[in-house]
Amino acid sequence: MSPDCARVLQDAHAMYDRLVAWRRDLHRHPELGYEEHRTSSLIAEHLSDLGLRVQQGVARTGVVGLLEGGREGPTLLLRFDMDALPVEEENDVPYRSEYPGRMHACGHDGHVAIGLATATLLSRYREEVPGRVKFVFQPAEEGLGGALRMVREGVLENPRPDMAFGLHLWNPIPVGDVVVQPGPLMAAAARFDIDVVGRGGHGAQPHLTVDALVAAAHIVTGLQTIVSRNVDPLEALVLTVGELHAGSAFNIIPGQASMRGTLRTFSMNTMHMAQSRLRSLAEGMAQAYGARADVRSEVISPPVVNDEEATALVRRVARSLLGEEHVVTIKPVMVSEDMAEFLTRVPGCFFLVGARNEEKGIVYGHHHPRFDIDEEALPIGTALMTGIVLAAGGNGC
Ligand SMILES: [Zn+2]
Ligand SMILES: [Zn+2]
Repeated sequence: MSPDCARVLQDAHAMYDRLVAWRRDLHRHPELGYEEHRTSSLIAEHLSDLGLRVQQGVARTGVVGLLEGGREGPTLLLRFDMDALPVEEENDVPYRSEYPGRMHACGHDGHVAIGLATATLLSRYREEVPGRVKFVFQPAEEGLGGALRMVREGVLENPRPDMAFGLHLWNPIPVGDVVVQPGPLMAAAARFDIDVVGRGGHGAQPHLTVDALVAAAHIVTGLQTIVSRNVDPLEALVLTVGELHAGSAFNIIPGQASMRGTLRTFSMNTMHMAQSRLRSLAEGMAQAYGARADVRSEVISPPVVNDEEATALVRRVARSLLGEEHVVTIKPVMVSEDMAEFLTRVPGCFFLVGARNEEKGIVYGHHHPRFDIDEEALPIGTALMTGIVLAAGGNGC
């Protein structure tokens, strides 16, 4: 390990108590997308204390801090998301959520803590920092479009970043390991809504009605043929109908049915094909049963695709900080992440920091009411982000 790397690792570990204190404070006070007022004030205050140029209210509750390095170099964007989820926490821990029905069940509390610690270390090393670092604390990652809104409000201008980096604490893999890989890592996501309109009536007189429920049932099964018959078998596509509502009594034929679902894929061509087939199938099948289908679908996020060069940089830093055997790859996952909005516009890398610990019972998946992270992952995330910035200038760690 180079002396630079050793120092970054040591300094990140020395911040452990502060990292844990930040993370637990945020965990006790989880805020949903676009409501992260307490979180963003805390961030803005800390970044101002460090002497960064701070902008608040980007995409309502987002915070952007600019650090001017002491050397020539590129402008890097580091992204940390801040929002919690509408989940009732079931963990019995001293830092349990104090807000009913809200919980940091995805680890974004840890991301904010890592962001604050990274800003602290890079401010300390300011003279050696190449170029500029734009710290982007993003609201509303959980399906609410916070990243796109920040982009629309100019987060990629003045100055424009040359590369973008983001991380996610990741419970499928053990603490100490990190996932760094080029190419597609997470899927594009779309949501769809289908309303089926027929004509209701008495349950004993079907010949006088148009049964929206029967038409909807056929649409649900028919839609799966998009996956089995329309997509290149070597391309991934998931189509899930997650909601289906119809009817109000056992002896009434429903005149209305509605369903909602999601599409996931790694290629936008496949996504657009699936959206178009979804419309034709639903409309055509409803018509076949004498009903009508109103179909709406919208892309929530493009796929997360990592740039070769940016990924090579992260891998180099991760190997020197953690050792070659702890830098791993996984099969891409079909969940989505709106870090993709930055990565489709700026080359960069999104990487996963292991946070699972079987021995401590930290085994629950993201969004589960008993989700937790091994806090040993916090200094690791901090060292990686800090190391990436220093290495982007062409020097060691
Ligand atoms: Zn999540
Ligand atoms: Zn998340």
